[in-house]
Amino acid sequence: MSSIKQSDIISVLKSEIENYDIKTNVSETGTIIQIGDGIATIYGLENAMYGELVEFETGVHGIVQNLEMKTVGVVLLGSDYGLVEGSKVTRTKKRAGVPVSSSLLGRVVDALGKPIDGKGNIEAEDYYPIENEAPGVVARKSVTVPMQTGIIAIDSMFPIGRGQRELIIGDRQTGKTSIAVDTIINQKKENVVCIYVAIGQKASTVAKIVSTLTKHNALDYTIVVAASASDLAPLQYIAPYSGTAMAEYFMKQGKDVLIVYDDLSKHAVAYRAMSLLLKRPPGREAYPGDVFYLHSRLLERSARLSEEYGGGSITALPIIETLAGDVSAYIPTNVISITDGQIFLESELFFAGIRPAVNVGLSVSRVGGAAQTKAMKKASGSLRIDLAQFREMEIFTQFSAELDKSTKDLLDHGNRLVELLKQPLSKPLPLHEQIILLVSANNKLLLDIPVKEIKKFRNDLIDYFENKYINIIEEINTEKVLTDELISQIVEATKEFKSR
Ligand code: ATP
Ligand code: MG
Repeated sequence: MSSIKQSDIISVLKSEIENYDIKTNVSETGTIIQIGDGIATIYGLENAMYGELVEFETGVHGIVQNLEMKTVGVVLLGSDYGLVEGSKVTRTKKRAGVPVSSSLLGRVVDALGKPIDGKGNIEAEDYYPIENEAPGVVARKSVTVPMQTGIIAIDSMFPIGRGQRELIIGDRQTGKTSIAVDTIINQKKENVVCIYVAIGQKASTVAKIVSTLTKHNALDYTIVVAASASDLAPLQYIAPYSGTAMAEYFMKQGKDVLIVYDDLSKHAVAYRAMSLLLKRPPGREAYPGDVFYLHSRLLERSARLSEEYGGGSITALPIIETLAGDVSAYIPTNVISITDGQIFLESELFFAGIRPAVNVGLSVSRVGGAAQTKAMKKASGSLRIDLAQFREMEIFTQFSAELDKSTKDLLDHGNRLVELLKQPLSKPLPLHEQIILLVSANNKLLLDIPVKEIKKFRNDLIDYFENKYINIIEEINTEKVLTDELISQIVEATKEFKSR
């Protein structure tokens, strides 16, 4: 007993006390044991939660993604410059989020909500978590208000309602982005907040979209959230959630929001890269097992809230790129099953000059019909069926020279409808123009006009109505119903125009 010195006891006690301190500390701070490729494995941080924001020594932030027995896996939201094994990491006890504010409108920001357009700071009004629970059944209301795209082929046959999720799907370079951008441009007078989320695109492509929006005075009511191809995979992964958090901020104020995710194929690829680096087990096409949840929890947040919950809405236009028109691939089928319909764009149509290249047979809108104005519903009439019959007959009669009259009529009508649905970029058509054109087509008033002249005819016809029949235009726009009397007025006016 006497061999133990007093000083020994003291030193043991001292080290015990010191170690005790570290032990309690490891729940709040941790040490990097491995870092690289934007992923850090951290020893400690025992109390950290999934999705929590942590801060590294250099001030860079990260999000906790993997929770293991002794370690946690963190994805970095910035450069790992200056971080080495042994560097300290501390909890922030905050969920990852973005600053939100109405001064975000008209700005281009990164996935963390920081401005990247050189127009100065954005004053934050609040901080919203990027991951948020979707509104429940009680908070929701059915979709009844239209979200006009201004694209006649979509508004007439595949109408979109506020609160709906409509997928835009097609091969590369088929006009997917153009449809989304045109829809944003068409919201000028609609009092809709627009958010365009660019994921994994070239920075130059994003710049082009920003300049298109600026040119059409559409940037003022739009936020562009950009995580381009050169950004870290974790930033590309969180970008759509950040955009949705901003959308929720406006929805909570009772506003209608339109959000475009361009595109979710690249989003899934970024998530796959991140998951593989986090050593999560790969599944089909090397995507992790929860890739379905990745998109379902994102798109579930689109909703139309009932009045008691503020009455706002989020309409989502996710975009998916297919390979050789294959809609049955893994990611396309997943997203098709989550959304309320899809606009299917086809390369063949696009190259044949039918733009927007909407495939009428494969496109569908499952809830928008209820939101379509009565006038549009009546005006579009049998358009879809006529076009489907036309397509069938077109293939059928390709090689036969002799056609009976009814077949010839059907083909003539179909050819003119196809021509009528062509629409140049950034030229959204207001409701009344769409209705006048559809009524004249349905009443077979285009049949005696050569196909080549349809384009000029429709422009002149609209001019004629604007000059002479402003009363008809006003009635369509205010009443939004198409009475038989109004139809006959439009028919008479069109005949009058033709006789000149
Ligand atoms: P990516 O796969 O590269 O993202 P995308 O499917 O988004 O392509 P867009 O970028 O929208 O396609 O359009 C491709 C090209 O087609 C663009 O040059 C665009 O100007 C043109 N384009 C798209 N829609 C129309 C249209 N309605 N009329 C004329 N040109 C169009
Ligand atoms: Mg695109």
